[in-house]
Amino acid sequence: MTPSASQEPPGAGLGDRFGRVATDLRVSLTDRCNLRCTYCMPAEGLDWLPNPSLLTDAEIVRLIDVAVHRLGVTEVRFTGGEPLLRRGLVEIVRAVAALTRRPRMMLTTNGIGLARLAEPLAAAGLDRVNVSLDTTDPAQFKALTRRDRHADVVAGLAASAAAGLLPVKMNAVLLRGVNDDEAVGLLAFALERGYELRFIEQMPLDAGHTWRREEMVTGAEILAALRSAYTLRPDPDARGGSPAETWIVDGHAAVGGGPARVGVIASVSSPFCGACDRTRLTADGAIRSCLFSQEETDLRGALRGGAGDEELADLWRKAMWAKPAGHGIDDPKFLQPARPMSAIGG
Ligand code: SAM
Ligand code: SF4
Repeated sequence: MTPSASQEPPGAGLGDRFGRVATDLRVSLTDRCNLRCTYCMPAEGLDWLPNPSLLTDAEIVRLIDVAVHRLGVTEVRFTGGEPLLRRGLVEIVRAVAALTRRPRMMLTTNGIGLARLAEPLAAAGLDRVNVSLDTTDPAQFKALTRRDRHADVVAGLAASAAAGLLPVKMNAVLLRGVNDDEAVGLLAFALERGYELRFIEQMPLDAGHTWRREEMVTGAEILAALRSAYTLRPDPDARGGSPAETWIVDGHAAVGGGPARVGVIASVSSPFCGACDRTRLTADGAIRSCLFSQEETDLRGALRGGAGDEELADLWRKAMWAKPAGHGIDDPKFLQPARPMSAIGG
């Protein structure tokens, strides 16, 4: 990618120096979580953000309003930490659904509590969910997440489908020597229930900095495993800004009709940075132009200092204009960001 020479963002939207335009906003609603997935958080948890530093529900809605009405954002994904732990979640969704240019709204969740919340969230205006589930085995789940909650996640997935949050998507991370033999089993689980499964390559974003590239289960390995049991055909639908490369699973149908699909997000072995259309807002009000950014732009200070919508939009544009060309994981000088995945949101 060749950078633009200009020092200032030109248009009204969230463009960057490499010609990309962000329209997909990821909002982290909390850095807290009720699981302790080994590849994400240490057993003892982390030093949570102090409450006064967290954006209030009203502040979150205000910033989403700015993103949608002044910056061209069309999709909003709520994440965390665990977003279902945010008490005001249903009300936040309802308020965003009431915006004049209503964005599409999604939620990435570990699914605990979704059995109760899927229906109210759908009624408030949520369009879809991605539920993270890395194993079909309750004992493995307990080892991997350090909590005995497999049944809650399975119930959350079912409740999402019943509430019409379709297609229900499932995210799975495979870890070598832990659950790397589960690719086929997870796809069978998803196909039986009509969920769309996506495998995500493990990224160097864990709080413990334990990620090793040599140990990562690659997208190519996952595909080879799936092909031992299923016939996969390239998905004719364009990939666009989506990070997942998707395949049609021959002989299987999705809930609501059409062919069943499976996706692989090979963020490390096959980066999609050139087509990235994301911008991120952390729970304490910082803009991150990339998951792996070393820099952030604080909006909370300006917001609480009385900044107007256009001033906030301008800060946001400047933050995105500086978006790096790529994540640079292959660069020998690569440094993991100070904020772990649980405090940025996947
Ligand atoms: N708690 C929610 C959940 O688990 O879905 C939302 C936040 S979590 C950080 C979002 C997604 O990031 C999950 O699908 C999780 O599996 C994934 N994730 C966490 N750490 C990761 C890592 N180091 N590499 C790849 N994906 C990771
Ligand atoms: Fe919690 Fe999600 Fe991280 Fe697991 S991946 S510890 S559920 S934030």
